[in-house]
Amino acid sequence: MSGAQELLASVPTQLLVGGRWVDAADRRTFAVHDPATGEVLRDIADAGPREATAALDAAVAAQPGWASTAPRVRSDLLRRTFDLVLERREDLALLMTLEMGKPLAESRGEVTYAAEFLRWFSEEAVRVTGRYGSNPEGSGRVLVSRHPVGPCYLITPWNFPLAMATRKIAPALAAGCTAVLKPAELTPLTSLLFATLLEEAGLPAGVVNVITTTSSADVSAPLIGDPRLRKLSFTGSTPVGRRLIAQSADRVLRVSMELGGNAPFLVFEDADLDAAVEGAMQAKFRNIGQACTAANRFLVHESVSEEFTRRVGERVAALTVGRGTDPDVDLGPLIDDRAVTAVTGLVDDAVRRGAVVAASGTAPHTSGSFFAPTVLSGVQPGSALLTEEIFGPLLAVTSFADEDEAVELANDTEYGLVSYAYTRDLARAHRLVDRLQTGMMGLNVGVVSNAAAPFGGVKQSGLGREGGIEGIDEYLSTKYTLIPA
Ligand code: NAD
Repeated sequence: MSGAQELLASVPTQLLVGGRWVDAADRRTFAVHDPATGEVLRDIADAGPREATAALDAAVAAQPGWASTAPRVRSDLLRRTFDLVLERREDLALLMTLEMGKPLAESRGEVTYAAEFLRWFSEEAVRVTGRYGSNPEGSGRVLVSRHPVGPCYLITPWNFPLAMATRKIAPALAAGCTAVLKPAELTPLTSLLFATLLEEAGLPAGVVNVITTTSSADVSAPLIGDPRLRKLSFTGSTPVGRRLIAQSADRVLRVSMELGGNAPFLVFEDADLDAAVEGAMQAKFRNIGQACTAANRFLVHESVSEEFTRRVGERVAALTVGRGTDPDVDLGPLIDDRAVTAVTGLVDDAVRRGAVVAASGTAPHTSGSFFAPTVLSGVQPGSALLTEEIFGPLLAVTSFADEDEAVELANDTEYGLVSYAYTRDLARAHRLVDRLQTGMMGLNVGVVSNAAAPFGGVKQSGLGREGGIEGIDEYLSTKYTLIPA
């Protein structure tokens, strides 16, 4: 057996419920595919609502014990898991590349990033503090304490199979919450392998339960409607997020939402163009363009737009597209053929409305879901790619005349996750921080992800923050007690 086959054979294919690996009812399974070849990697359990409810039963049963476990013990478990994730870095990276497609080097980067949430929240677990103050009248004391929210339902997307899971599980466990994790059906294997590392680190039964399913809506509805569930944390698309918020409203369920983005990437006339081109390649092509933080709209000052487009075009034409497991590959396949059709449709729409294909790379003519990276210039208002998430290696340039127009274009979206801006003018940089409607900002930098910083959006990009000292707040509720003096 090759290393990949051995690794795949070692991944659990069942559901983790209450500390036991169990089959779905009627031993139902579904296939997980390699997007670079279309081959089936593994068949895994396909949970229905009954198994999901059993997972919640287990999380509810484990909740009191986990909440009363000493923070230091919870912290140590997360720290051990951090060590184990790094020890198994190569396996986790290979598995992620097999099921998701990104080049191995990027998968290794994701493992490191994902592990950082375990380390960060192992450190935060022992720093959950409250407040003790006196009433302004002087006649009483105010005690503010913080407590675990309770059992959580965590739903993750396919594009960052490990990091999106640790970004939720680590703060939940640190805060003293138990969880049911539902990874995306396209990339569940990484979460299953990760669950074995939690177990190896000493996770008590029922504290984290994992359900894999092709019936996300049917499985999620009863959990969201169950009064024992206290929190829903979702990362995924805005349309699904909207639906889950609506479902949660019936029970006023507490929610965190990490949703879609439509990041502007602003290049001003005073920008360091070398840095802007480098940043553009990262902000656009990391994860094959399939990131919520991917630059979606390149807004470039008219005096440098031609040069910027030419220079990114040269870089794009030199990109190597292929299987993520092959050496020297820059871009892997898109997640599936539907994604290829969607990105192709965005190019056709933009060109029909007047955009020009300024450069393109080449993609292998094999059965995988490959898309040749493309640069468009002169994108016209009304083009679908200006309002929709592109989610692919398509770099679209629009020019602007002055700072006011740049800000207006940048804010002209229902999303507000991240914005990138390249300028050497410090005063302008400060104005942009004030004026851009965004949850995060990369100033002369093309990647902002950082476990120590609060990740999240404004407008329809979401509610709440993950990472940073803010990340654990999502899993804590605040209690105020009045003590008469
Ligand atoms: P998606 O919304 O289709 O799916 C996300 C998850 O929700 C998956 O686990 C899926 O199985 C599940 N799901 C789908 N329909 C559901 C339903 N009706 N009820 C319950 N669960 C349901 O998104 P995706 O295609 O997996 O991921 C890409 C999207 O995620 C993009 O929009 C991207 O911007 C966003 N994303 C956001 C962040 C962030 O932090 N803001 C990070 C990564 C990805």
